[in-house]
Amino acid sequence: MKHSVTTPLQPFRSLSGALEVQMVPVWQDNLVWLILPQDSDDAWAVDGPEAAPVLEACAALGRRLCGVLNTHTHRDHIGINLDLERQGMLSEMRVIGSTTPKEPIPGQTRAVDDGDTLLIGGVEGRVLRTEGHQDGHLSFLFEDLLFCGDTLFTGGCGYLFDGPPARMFESLMRLADLPGHTKVCCAHEYTQDNLRFAWMVEPENEALAERIRRVWDLRSRGACAVPSTLDEERATNPFLRPGSPCIMREVARRLPEADLSTYAAIFAATRALKDRKDHRELSDADLPLHG
Ligand SMILES: [Zn+2]
Repeated sequence: MKHSVTTPLQPFRSLSGALEVQMVPVWQDNLVWLILPQDSDDAWAVDGPEAAPVLEACAALGRRLCGVLNTHTHRDHIGINLDLERQGMLSEMRVIGSTTPKEPIPGQTRAVDDGDTLLIGGVEGRVLRTEGHQDGHLSFLFEDLLFCGDTLFTGGCGYLFDGPPARMFESLMRLADLPGHTKVCCAHEYTQDNLRFAWMVEPENEALAERIRRVWDLRSRGACAVPSTLDEERATNPFLRPGSPCIMREVARRLPEADLSTYAAIFAATRALKDRKDHRELSDADLPLHG
């Protein structure tokens, strides 16, 4: 299966420089993040559908995969654990995941919950419980690097498989409260689909128009539009902007029956509207690509 990202993402560092991050594209749109501490040859993977491309990337970097951080237990996030198990490598790994995972996490060596900390390369990471996509979903924050799995996406958010909407909204609002320079390292490259929807509900947003031009240019070259920053997300991601009068108006027009009495309710209606996929009828000609 050909990945939608064909141009390698340049590695980048955490704010202090202590952690380097490499992105490994796997399957069609999964993004596996490798955390590379600068004080050792270790590598940590955040989730992954399978192990082979991750092990290959580690070998090419001269690194030893020593552990996995699992945000949640969907197959395209714990497949890496299952592969490592089949290859007899899982018992060598440190595997960190939720205290209350939806399904057992293969090889889990440490259970963590909201507020817990973990140390990688001398950097203390913080665990955030960010449920709504799936029960037990966690996000991991290391300095300015946010690994948020399928909770917050660039320009969007994950499906509400377990919900309820209010829980997802609370998770997103907590993430939105992090500093604006925080890098959003989500688990899929869905940026264009997300921004197409964003434009459908907020066509007056100039920052969004500018972001669409930038992202379409990147993606036309096979480059990755992830990570973004939380500043960008707060300015353009409709799921972080329930107070936008334009979004409220568009959602009310398209879902006349929807309850829009609270921000959480507006979020729920906006998510339900995206699930209808009306935005996929917007062609590129409907987008502000030539500002
Ligand atoms: Zn998922």
